[in-house]
Amino acid sequence: MRYLMKFGGTSVADARSIGRVAGIVGGARREGHEVAVVVSAMRGITDGLIACAGEMVTTADAEPGPFLAAVRERQAAALAEVAPDYAEAALLEIETRLASLGNVLRAVHALRELTPRSRDYIISFGERFSAIVVAAALRQLGFRSEPLDGCAAGILTDGNHGEAVALPGSGERIRERVVPLLAGSIPVIMGFMGCTEEGSVTTLGRSGSDYSAAVLAAGIDADECWIWTDVDGVMTCDPRLIPGARVIPAVSYLEAMELSYFGAKVLHPRSIEPAMAREITIRVKNTFNPDHPGTVLVADGVPSRRIVKALTFIDRVALVNCTGVQMIGRPGVAKAIFAALADRAVNVMMISQGSSEANISLIVDEGHLEAAVGALEPLVASGLFRQLSSDSDVAVVAVVGSGMAGAPGTGGRIFSALGREGINVMMISQGSSEANISFVVRAGDGPAAVRALHDEFRLSEFCDDE
Ligand code: ADP
Ligand code: ASP
Ligand code: MG
Repeated sequence: MRYLMKFGGTSVADARSIGRVAGIVGGARREGHEVAVVVSAMRGITDGLIACAGEMVTTADAEPGPFLAAVRERQAAALAEVAPDYAEAALLEIETRLASLGNVLRAVHALRELTPRSRDYIISFGERFSAIVVAAALRQLGFRSEPLDGCAAGILTDGNHGEAVALPGSGERIRERVVPLLAGSIPVIMGFMGCTEEGSVTTLGRSGSDYSAAVLAAGIDADECWIWTDVDGVMTCDPRLIPGARVIPAVSYLEAMELSYFGAKVLHPRSIEPAMAREITIRVKNTFNPDHPGTVLVADGVPSRRIVKALTFIDRVALVNCTGVQMIGRPGVAKAIFAALADRAVNVMMISQGSSEANISLIVDEGHLEAAVGALEPLVASGLFRQLSSDSDVAVVAVVGSGMAGAPGTGGRIFSALGREGINVMMISQGSSEANISFVVRAGDGPAAVRALHDEFRLSEFCDDE
């Protein structure tokens, strides 16, 4: 078998965890499988890089030295434990990269300017370090292994820095560059990063290593793509919100896409499509409990007695309302609204329009609210509609399950359960796939709404045979 195994930030957070990673990968290799590895940065490093880059612009006497020293210390401590024989050489490599990083950070400070391009270059460093450490740990176990940056591995992207998307040309490059390595070695590829045709480093969005994994799995034509993380699999809800959340043994690609799109952090929304296109089986598994079967993503929903399988909750969103009788029966209003938002690169997550047509409501990322309002204000001035209002004290709850398609009464159960809790619903939307009903409530009501629905659909009683 040919595997692509991706390990997230917690899985490579320290020496103990990296030891587990090397054990898992080495075990598969010893069984005769080909394995390509993708790693995230050690937990917290990307956040640290983002904060440090910002400080270089805003703080008068910023100096990255202490930050760089702390990063070095963390990698050195892990190396000393997991790869004592290779630690010296690996640390030299890390120090060379730290020196480049320091130069860029100082340049940002001197110019007081952080362009999207330099920011991407800076925040890609976490993965550069962790890949060196993981490759050294594999060598220590007797395997041939080398770190490979995402660009060298063939991930070619558009130039949308911070949220870059892999281009179709990546597949061919990845096949040429990575497949020949697999017979004799274990490449450890730096997740989260790629580069443009001109060679400028890009990043794939927060949590983008899942997306790297899917693109690479498709490129090497992997039999399976395993996403190793810190929970047993895709669960009925974020276990941090609902301690009784249960692991779902199988979800369809469509269900996984709906869940990740609406905030289930366990998978990046863009990580499903590349694997789906090639029908690569994705498994989500726990680095810290590898014997658990985890969750498998499959092409067709495995028949389940469950109508609703999982719930998600996002509160970093804002509601935007466009209102006015001018909109009634007038063609082109929606076109003007969405064109204006697209011009400002605003991501619209949910849309609803009242049947009177006097109102169009949108949900956008909270970080895009200012741009959304800026984009739509001129439309009020031009008389396209009368009033624009926004509200960021809201949350989106999504109810996901392919079984909802054609199952009458699910909406009734959802809204009755919310009514019993006295929770007011501000906006509702259901996709035509019918695998998802999402609604908007006051941010403070979100957790109670999720708890009420987890109980209503008895998701804590999910069993392994479902
Ligand atoms: P990694 O660093 O391995 O990529 P993440 O932190 O990105 O891990 O994603 C794993 C986390 O996602 C879990 O620890 C969990 O708290 C959160 N999570 C949110 N929703 C879900 C869900 N439905 N199922 C499983 N985990 C979820
Ligand atoms: N290190 C990046 C992040 O923290 C990418 C990832 O972990 O997937 O967002
Ligand atoms: Mg993640």
